[in-house]
Amino acid sequence: MRTKPSLRAIPAVEKLLQALGPTGLPRAVVVAQVRREVARLRAATAIPAFAVVVAQLQAQLAALRRGRIQAVINGTGVILHTNLGRAPLGPAVVETLGAIAANYNNLEYDLATGERGHRAQYLEHNLALLCGAEAATVVNNCAAALVLILRHFTRGGRREVVISRGELVQIGGGFRIPEILASSGAQLREVGTTNKTHLDDYAAAVGPTTALILKVHRSNFFMGGFVEAPATEPLAALARAKRIPFVEDLGSGAVVRTEALGGLDHEPTPAEVLRRGVELVCCSGDKLLGGPQAGLIAGKRKLVTALKRDPFFRALRCDKLILAALQTTVDLYLDRPDKSSRGGVPVLNMLCVPPTDLQQRAEQLVARLDDLPLTASVGAGTAQVGGGTLPRAELESVTLDLVPRALALPEFAARLRHGAPPVIGYVAGGRFKLDLRTVFPLQDDALETAIRQSVTAPASGS
Ligand SMILES: *Cc1c(COP(=O)(O)O)cnc(C)c1O
Repeated sequence: MRTKPSLRAIPAVEKLLQALGPTGLPRAVVVAQVRREVARLRAATAIPAFAVVVAQLQAQLAALRRGRIQAVINGTGVILHTNLGRAPLGPAVVETLGAIAANYNNLEYDLATGERGHRAQYLEHNLALLCGAEAATVVNNCAAALVLILRHFTRGGRREVVISRGELVQIGGGFRIPEILASSGAQLREVGTTNKTHLDDYAAAVGPTTALILKVHRSNFFMGGFVEAPATEPLAALARAKRIPFVEDLGSGAVVRTEALGGLDHEPTPAEVLRRGVELVCCSGDKLLGGPQAGLIAGKRKLVTALKRDPFFRALRCDKLILAALQTTVDLYLDRPDKSSRGGVPVLNMLCVPPTDLQQRAEQLVARLDDLPLTASVGAGTAQVGGGTLPRAELESVTLDLVPRALALPEFAARLRHGAPPVIGYVAGGRFKLDLRTVFPLQDDALETAIRQSVTAPASGS
């Protein structure tokens, strides 16, 4: 006689699907999950009750749903949160995206002649203008820009890239300058020391095998004390005298005076470093520029043209949606250079919103949450720029502080993360905090609803 794992029968796939009801997931995904669960039960020593199997499946499907890319409310106070998609885009950019996505467009079509045209000609022209450069172009991200530049200019007998030991940095996860160099076929020629590098160090290192001089902006950390590096101008003169390109990886891509935005440090702009003699600069589109993910390259026309002719450029080129979003972002800056561009670029807006505005919103939210089983109060917080930029910047901010009466803080935080839309905050000083600097005023209603649901919902997990 065969020993049965249990007296209960394994539920049929069809019956489980029926019991699950609408799941908000494609049917094939649900069927695959149900089949996996049924297969698991076949191998199990005991079969749970039907209702338990259904509840387990609901939890598994909820976990799958949570993995979908979806809009979230960012209450962390980190403006360029890499895990939360860096820069959110403003209404003008979103409108462009909708129009270009839903229609044919003149991506590579010349409307004047009715013949094939140049991809992103208008954007490249305006980007060059914004960067004070002879020419500019765009690739997928700043890492791609740097790889393209390194691959292109290190070839033949000239493979050495001269860089200061103080700039062999790691940016975010998996982006280390020495590794990027190695993977591009370049040879690292380190000069100077961690804290001090002199012009003479560069001069002594440059020789017949030097491909280029690279400067990398220390975007995500600060070095103080006994520190020295040569100014850009004499380094540029050295590169010119040796007839090698002088490249700077700026990272952040700020094009406005960051010191005018609520007391931040000065962040070098592409225009500024090009003026000082850098020949080619690269930076991100979705950091302080506040646009879509992209790698901006600007500088001498000869060098930019050469990069665009490199066959590898084709593998790094941007999609029409990115180009369109970037085009609108660049135009916003060109049209209304300082103050008023903030309206169209949420990142700039969040950087300079006055705490009094945040205070007002926090007070309103506290009043609106009055009837709930939790203590809501207005708190203080420190927002950060994030995205590996302006590491020393601490922006005074205002938080909505919540302490639910019947829920532990981790459970409360989990319920908010699992809500619709998910809300992300942090726990500090025995409170759950939501920094209102990174919550858009338009999200206050949704935030209230999410908080309401999280304290009244029966259990988490769905
Ligand atoms: C952020 C950063 C990068 C990488 O930019 P991505 O657009 O994320 O690829 C490269 N260099 C510097 C100096 C940076 O700050």
